[in-house]
This record gives sequence, C-alpha cells and structure tokens, in this order.
Amino acid sequence: MIIDKYTPVFTPEEEAQIEAAYQELVQAYMNSNHRQKVEVIDRAFTLARVAHAGVRRRSGEPYILHPIAVARIVCSEMGLGSTSIVSALLHDVVEDTDYTLDDIEARFGDKVRVIVDGLTKVSNDNFSTGTSAQAESLRKILLVMSDDARVILIKIADRLHNMRTLGSMLPSKQYKIAGETQYIYAPLAHRLGLHSIKTELEDLSFRYEHPESYRMISQKIAETAADREQLLKRFAAPIEAALISEGINYDLKMRIKSNYSIWRKMQTKGIPFEEVFDLFAVRIVFDVKDGYPEKKRCLDIYGIITALYRANNDRIRDWTSTPKSNGYRALHVTVMGPGGRWIEVQIRSRRMDEIAERGLAAHWRYKNELVEEDKELDRWLDTVRDVVQAPTPNGMDFLDTFKLSLYAEDIWVFTPKGDTLRLPYEATVLDFAYEIHSELGDHCIGAKINHKAVPITTKLKQGDQIEILHSKTAYPKSEWLGYVVTPKARLGISSALRRQMREQVQRGEEVLRAKCAMAQLELSNSIVDRLLDFYQYNKREELYQAIGTGRIDLERDMAKFVKAQVDQRSATDLGAEPIVGRGRKFKALIDPEAPEERPRIDRKKIYELSEQSQKLNYIPATCCHPIPGDEALGIVDDKEQVHVHKLACPVATKVKSTEGHRLISTRWGEHEGHRFEVTLIFRGVDNVGILHSITATLLEHDHINISGINISCKDGIFSGRISVMVHNTEEVEEICTTLRQHEAIINVHRLAEETLKRRGQTAEESGL
Ligand code: MN
Repeated sequence: MIIDKYTPVFTPEEEAQIEAAYQELVQAYMNSNHRQKVEVIDRAFTLARVAHAGVRRRSGEPYILHPIAVARIVCSEMGLGSTSIVSALLHDVVEDTDYTLDDIEARFGDKVRVIVDGLTKVSNDNFSTGTSAQAESLRKILLVMSDDARVILIKIADRLHNMRTLGSMLPSKQYKIAGETQYIYAPLAHRLGLHSIKTELEDLSFRYEHPESYRMISQKIAETAADREQLLKRFAAPIEAALISEGINYDLKMRIKSNYSIWRKMQTKGIPFEEVFDLFAVRIVFDVKDGYPEKKRCLDIYGIITALYRANNDRIRDWTSTPKSNGYRALHVTVMGPGGRWIEVQIRSRRMDEIAERGLAAHWRYKNELVEEDKELDRWLDTVRDVVQAPTPNGMDFLDTFKLSLYAEDIWVFTPKGDTLRLPYEATVLDFAYEIHSELGDHCIGAKINHKAVPITTKLKQGDQIEILHSKTAYPKSEWLGYVVTPKARLGISSALRRQMREQVQRGEEVLRAKCAMAQLELSNSIVDRLLDFYQYNKREELYQAIGTGRIDLERDMAKFVKAQVDQRSATDLGAEPIVGRGRKFKALIDPEAPEERPRIDRKKIYELSEQSQKLNYIPATCCHPIPGDEALGIVDDKEQVHVHKLACPVATKVKSTEGHRLISTRWGEHEGHRFEVTLIFRGVDNVGILHSITATLLEHDHINISGINISCKDGIFSGRISVMVHNTEEVEEICTTLRQHEAIINVHRLAEETLKRRGQTAEESGL
C-alpha cells in the first residue's frame, strides 16, 4: 500500500539536508527548457522518501540523497525531462523496498513503469557474484534500452553518482566497481556522446585504480599551470583581437586533458609526463548570428587562426559536415604556437558544444533540426539489438562482442556499384564481406581494393572501393575471429563455426559407432564414459568432435581399448600404459599423492604476498609481470591459488568487471631473495662504444644482474632494451637512476605491459 505522507525519521539536520537537496533539484528543473511538471516530480520524491525512510547508505548518509543526486545528474548534466527525473527518483524503490511495479504504474503510468522495471532488473549488479551475472545484467540493460534509451541514461547517472561516492566502499569493491566502470560504462557514455560524463567516469576509475599515478599527474598539472597560462595569453591575444574586429561573439578557453588520458598516453607511448605534447587544447565556442551558417563561421575562424599561425595540414579534422558516429561536430586544427609548440584549436558553435558535452540528451532538445544524428543513434541501437538478441553461448563472449560496438570511430567505404557503407575504424575486408551478407562473409577469400587484390585481413581505409572475392569451397576458421571488428562479422563467424562443430560432432559419433560395430561392441554410455575419462574430456560433444576432426587417433587407441574391455580391465589400468590423451596423463597418475585441497582464501582479508626458499605463495601473471612494490591485486582461481596482476593490467580489468568475486586485495610481504625479470627501455644520443659504456656503468653496481641487453641505432638516436633480475621496484628505480646519470641517455623507463595495447584478452588466456 502506498502511503503519501512522509514522517520524518532522521535527525532534523539530516531532514533539512534532504529537503535542500531536493529543492536544488526542483530549481534546476525549473531553469531547464522542459515543460514544467513539478507536481509529478513532487509525488515521486514523496514516494521515494517514504520508501527509503530510515535507510542509510554505507557512508552513513540517508539513502534518499542517492536517488535525489541521480535525478539531479539526469536533469542538469544530461538535460532530460520529468519522466526521467521521476524514474531516477524511483530507481531503487522496487529493488530495495516493498513497493511493487504495479504501485509505480498506478501512480506514474506505464512509461515510468517500463523504465523503473528496466533499472530494477539491472540495479545493484555491481554487488552480484558469479561469472556471467554482470554480463547478464548488462544484457538486460541493453534489452530494455532498445525499448527506451532513458534506462541506459539513468543507469549511467546512477553509476556516476556511485563513482563520485566510491570512497566509502571497501577497497576490493572499489577496484571492482572502478574496473567495471572503465570497461563498460565509460565506453557506453562515450558511444552515447556524453563526453563530460565519460571523462569524469574514466578519471574517477583511474583515481581509485591508480591512486599514486593520479596524484602524481594532478601535482604535475598544478606545477606547470603558470607556464601554460603564460603560453595561452601569448597565443590567444592576436586571435581574440581578430575575432573581436570580425564582430564574432565567442568564448575562448584552455582545456586540459583529463588525468586519465594523460596517463594512457604515457602508458601507450612509454613516455614521461613532460613528453606528453598535447596536454591541452584551446577551445573557441562561438554564438551563431541570425542565420549565418555555423559551418561557414567555423571556416572563418579557421581562416583567422591559420593567417596568424602555421597549420599542420595532417592534423585538420573537419566534423562539421559529417559528424562522428556519436554526434560530435567541430573543426579541429593544430597550429605552431609560440616557442615552437604545436597547439590544437577546437572550433565549435554553442550548439555543437552542447551536443559534444551532453550528447544524446542535447540531440533530443534539437530534435527537429538534427534528424541525421537521430538516425545515427537508431543505427547504433539496431546494432546493439542484433548483438543482444543473437544467441551467444556465454556471457563473456557477449561482452566482447558488445564492446566492439562501443569502440566505433567510423570510416566510409564504397561497394563496386558506388554505394557507401559505414564501418568502424580498423574494419577489414572480412568485416566488409559480412556487412554485405553473411553468406559472402562465409566464403570470402580476399578482395580487390581499388582494383588491387588483397587478403581478407587487410584493413580498410576511408574512401576505399572494395570488391569481395569468394569461393564456394572457402569456409570460416576460428582465426577469423581475430581478423574482424564488427559485431556482425563476429556473430557470422561464430555461428558458422558452431555449424561446423555440430557437423564434426556428428561425424565423430558416426566414426565411433562404426568402430564399435567392427569390434562387435554396442556404443553404450559406459563406453563413452570410459573414453571421456581416458582422453580427459568433460563433454561427450568434445570427445566426438575430437574424433570427427581426427585429433584423436582412434585407430591406434581403440585396439588397446577393446583389448582392455575383453580383458575385463578397468579404464584406470589401461591408463597406466603411457598413452596420453590430449597431452595429459590420467588424473590419478598426475600426482598419486594429490595435495589436499588448498584452504579457502578469505576474500575480505588483505592477502600478503610472500616468498620462502624460492617458493612464492602466489603466481605472478605472465601478461603484466608484477614485481614486489607494484600496485597489484589478486585473482583467486578455482584451485584457490592467487594470481597477481598489476592494477593497470587489462586482463585484470576485465576480470574486475566480469568476475569481481574472485578479486582480493594484496599487500607485498617478505621475500627472501627471489629475483624477478623486468625490462627497461632507454633512448639516447648515439655515440661510439655506447653498449660498452652503458654496461660498464651498470657493472659498477655489482649487485645488478643483467640477463639481456639489446641496442639499436638510427639517425643518431639509439634505443635499447635491457633485462635485469631484481627483487623489487626500488631496485628498478635505482637502476633507472643509474642509467639516467649516463650522459648519453635521454630517458629510461620500465616496459609497460605489452598487453595494454591489446583489448579484450580473455581471462582464459591469462591462465585463470
Ligand atoms: Mn542506485
């Protein structure tokens, strides 16, 4: 039953705080361009307040402040209207209290019901456990989103507020939520064109995942602020004078890259902060005057700037006529500023700016003018629907496929008939073939790009004309999955492979049946069970497939097997012969004294990583090679072994967002002397005998243990890699310092994980 009267339960100060937060929301709404329907918002607030009465968040503050804050984001930062605000206020009511969807519908109608229902199915997913529970809940969000995109917007607002208040969660939860935000929500916000929210989500995740790096970058930004101000003044003065004399109304601001983007650049390029050249950009936002075309105005301003400064012609980006797939429009140009520094200038109208910052929500506001962008959004929603509804065997695959649809930066290409097709950046010949038809994809053997024959793996470029070459006898192979970036191609290949597998399974079963018949045996369950045990397969299909593809030499083994049958010996005795199925010996023979089950590790406690007589009580991940002193986290596998990854490792990030229940916080403990290999990269000015003199420098420190060194020179610059055996990060620093002191060396750093560049690696590959 719904009670419409709220009785205060918190302290008077807290009640006042709730009231004030709500009044701010109402004010923000009244100041928006929406039709003013305050009454329904009031009713939603009262219901939410009654429903969450007396409940507190982990931080101790009244729970109701959370839905109010989410509604505030939805209103002020996304520009949505009353339906969304009402739904945001009610988003946790059905999930967390006794109220039902029928109660909601009775009060607020079916639209709000649909949205709240969507949010209820997917809420609190960040606290669930199990491999695919999170993937499953994402799938639900997307399914519901295809009915009403507001579900996903409110979900993003909910996540944003949770990230803003993440400080009060347990550290292990923080990693998990931050990882999931990085992996799913930030790309999602990006794809919906919610630029400022995406940036904030990334920055907040970064702050919790790499507190040290975050602090370091913030500090360096602050230290260099005065220099930048100075530079901006010198750079902007002549531009501003010219804009004013042209009678253009404008805002000119400097935009600093987010901490996260700076850090990413440092990681992927392997450079220190000081070498990040595009640390900031200058943005000019102008007002449109009585019907003067925006695009023309962008070009006017471009003309003004390039008359003053030399432009880098390779770095002009014109999204004024054809926007990016997330709706972004602007003109970017990079010019040589004072002191020989390249400076990027972004030119946008007020409207373009709003779309860039608020994305989708702003599209709705300008709906009548922006039909095209709506079409783009619909196109994307179509893709999402395809992905969501396609039958995928497990949640992990689904996540990978879905992420492909998020990372789209598009190119245009042509069919032989001259039709245009839009494909994501990095799309290949194979993607193109599947885009046209799955049949064409399945039989693709290559293409002619601009009349030149190329293989299926060739990446397409803007404006390419492509003719697919095909053959009836060609058929998809599993490697193909690595050659494609579009969800459509991925789904096409997967389903062809599944078809293929079914055929192999069938063939395998037939072969086995025939073999049994020859030995005058009936293909019974007990025979199958013994074979499964013998070859170490878990599923009947896997066994049949192995037979079907000839991976198992049934001819050879069957004779022994039949003999064993006749001798009435058990399959276990049979296994004692040195026959190895799938490279593995019999379970019982692997380790006759199988160690007792490892004790269960307490996930809530911090796990201390240690070493005793060369035995580590953990497994350092081979993808990111953590060493003592690195920011790290642990992932517990099914055997209760702890795999340690660097916090920055993309494999770990993926596990964080999909199998958060495996995570544990770790601390580096006692190590008796185990050495870890790390690789250092250095660059410098070439001079004679460099290899010798660097080695000599290092050898002065007699405890440094070099396991490999390699130097190459080009155009007077050398770059080198050196592998050293160390105990911890302190020693790495010490070696770096030593190397930096060498006069020829310009910079030195430890090799960042090579896998950082590779997105979407699966947990299986990481050895989990
Ligand atoms: Mn919530």
